[in-house]
Amino acid sequence: VPVIEFRGVSLTYPGPPPVAALRPCELTVHRGEFITVVGPSGSGKSTFLNVAGLLDAPTGGTYLLDGIDTAALRDGERTALRGRRIGFVFQSFHLLPHRSATENVTLSMVYSAVPRAERRARARTALERVGLGHRADALPGRLSGGERQRVAIARALAGRPSLLLCDEPTGNLDSDNAGSVLDLLGELHASGMTIVVITHDAEVAERGQRTVTIRDGILSEPSREARA
Ligand code: ADP
Ligand code: ADP
Repeated sequence: VPVIEFRGVSLTYPGPPPVAALRPCELTVHRGEFITVVGPSGSGKSTFLNVAGLLDAPTGGTYLLDGIDTAALRDGERTALRGRRIGFVFQSFHLLPHRSATENVTLSMVYSAVPRAERRARARTALERVGLGHRADALPGRLSGGERQRVAIARALAGRPSLLLCDEPTGNLDSDNAGSVLDLLGELHASGMTIVVITHDAEVAERGQRTVTIRDGILSEPSREARA
């Protein structure tokens, strides 16, 4: 079962005037794939993120996440599914400044079904996975931008999502830190994680195994033969 399956998925903001921000599109992302979605400002990237991330319901078509038809879900069910299946990574790291790296990760599990005793162990494991086991007690202010983003990635991983959905994950980072975050995403992909990165940056887009472009709300993928 694919992680993401869009069948004619679209989103039109009602307006007035209505804006067709995502045109009917087909997209299949299989388990373990690392895809990038690239497009300029205003092309529909946030709209795509909101739909793929179950933050907004599409206004047309069918979105299956892990084979689950999300159209049939009520709002609360959609939120619950999002919490269980999707790990978000944003441009701005959204870490709590007065909490350690470990606490930032454990707090993300407070509203999930993870038993209290297990949260800390999972946080440690997630921080080790992103190479920050030795910084577990550090406050965000003592970490570099790249390390902060790695904490945010650990936070996303701690919920054991089936999909890591990253919105401009290197947008606030200098090139060294951006490189380390992209390398980490590559390692997570190598270990089997399914990753979607949304970006306006062609260099970031190149790091994906597959690149989908978005322009004026139209998703398109160069055919694999054409790229080979
Ligand atoms: P991007 O993230 O690539 O900058 P967006 O998904 O934010 O693109 O926007 C795609 C299009 O939809 C743009 O034309 C934008 O102005 C429009 N748009 C975004 N949000 C809304 C909204 N809430 N209501 C109406 N139009 C919107
Ligand atoms: P931008 O890319 O515009 O700088 P962010 O990437 O920080 O913005 O956030 C994108 C959107 O996701 C915003 O609407 C923000 O409110 C929302 N958001 C940011 N962090 C979280 C989070 N941890 N959980 C849920 N939504 C978030």
